[in-house]
Amino acid sequence: MTSYDIAIIGGGIVGCALARELSARFKRVVLIEKESAVAQHTSGRNSGVVHSGFNPHPGTLKAKFCVEGSREIRRYCAERKIPCEQVGTFVVATEESQVPTLHELKTRGTKNGVPGLEVLSVESVRKHEPNARGVQALHSPTGAIVDSKGLATAIATEARERGVTLMTGQEVVGIRERADHVELQCRNEPIRCELLINSAGLHADRLAHWMGVGRDLVVAPFRGEYFVVKHPVIRSMIYPVPHPVVPFLGVHLTKSIDGSVLLGPNAVPAFGREAYGPWNVNVRDVAQMLAHRGVWNALVRNQTLVKIAWNEWRHSRSRTHFWREAGKLVDGLRQEDLTLGRRVGIRPQLIRADGHLVEDLVIETTPRSVHVLNVVSPGMTSSIPFAKWLSSQISDELRWTAPRTVAGAA
Ligand SMILES: Cc1cc2nc3c(=O)[nH]c(=O)nc-3n(C[C@H](O)[C@H](O)[C@H](O)COP(=O)(O)OP(=O)(O)OC[C@H]3O[C@@H](n4cnc5c(N)ncnc54)[C@H](O)[C@@H]3O)c2cc1C
Repeated sequence: MTSYDIAIIGGGIVGCALARELSARFKRVVLIEKESAVAQHTSGRNSGVVHSGFNPHPGTLKAKFCVEGSREIRRYCAERKIPCEQVGTFVVATEESQVPTLHELKTRGTKNGVPGLEVLSVESVRKHEPNARGVQALHSPTGAIVDSKGLATAIATEARERGVTLMTGQEVVGIRERADHVELQCRNEPIRCELLINSAGLHADRLAHWMGVGRDLVVAPFRGEYFVVKHPVIRSMIYPVPHPVVPFLGVHLTKSIDGSVLLGPNAVPAFGREAYGPWNVNVRDVAQMLAHRGVWNALVRNQTLVKIAWNEWRHSRSRTHFWREAGKLVDGLRQEDLTLGRRVGIRPQLIRADGHLVEDLVIETTPRSVHVLNVVSPGMTSSIPFAKWLSSQISDELRWTAPRTVAGAA
């Protein structure tokens, strides 16, 4: 059995960033990924937006890491020549009643430390985005786009250059915690480590449950689908005003790094943690979800969520729906220009036993393990400062020094 100081489960951007960061302090670090390469799930299937940080509530971990991450990712990409473009973000109020929310977002963003936020008239917006609609918009000049798979791969490569062992095609199927180490049962070979970090994304809650922690939490997967427009209908990113109740940003338009424009993502309840197709069902995942009282409480107590989920389900992969929603934000979109994108990402939305949708990061620990839960958007943007923070909570003796549970805002 090979022994390591630290084993990290999950080769998404969070696991890669953790491996890179921890390799600066510890000699024997292994990153274990079940797929044949890193970033095959959420980290390689997202919108590729480096968020500037005006959405998260001040004081949350999300806000802190997003604003720092926006700066760090742009700098990292410039240094490593990873495609990244600072195109700016607009949040468009389509009616006067939404304008106060733009000012709230500006205040929130300013508190979070986001530079250069301005509420602009539609005439000023059109100087940047000639096709923009609406009455006013919040402009955030630091919003950027990046090649998300390229970014995760570059971070993993750097981690390997610094001495991290990268094990791909190696699924962890069982975990046993002993007094002075952890044993990982893997598909190919067993591994022993002094400290385990679980950053398994869509599966992180399941691995935590194996170790007896986070049992009051469960991942509910929501599929994000996209349509693609080949012609440059926008030059930056255009978002609607966010919904006050659900933590999804609504169908928006994003210029992507290859020059095309993405419409979406939506947020359709998925019948499996990796159920990317509309008819994919994973019976074990569905049974586990339905066995958790958090899912039932969410269904009974959050009627707004149920209505939105039903609406998203009805309009899944609907060209007309995406065209109508995006058409509220910009002129010049023809329905026939929209093609269903091949990219589909799944959000691991964490639900508490009382049915609450958790908004912020949650860290659960045991004496020899750290479980990173609820890395929802903007998890890619936040990854580098999050990894630095997490490393700072681990002592040289490989002990977690922060409280046993670190839970941000519910
Ligand atoms: C549709 C969508 C759009 C998004 N857009 C943005 C955006 O524009 N900007 C932004 O900042 N964020 C965005 N996000 C969020 C961001 O993509 C995620 O927060 C981030 O990628 C999460 O990374 P991760 O490493 O935690 O998870 P993942 O990328 O899912 O990685 C987890 C890894 O763990 C592996 N794994 C799981 N179980 C095991 C096991 N038992 N053994 C070994 N390996 C295992 C999986 O194979 C996977 O590779 C978006 C998310 C979605 C769904």
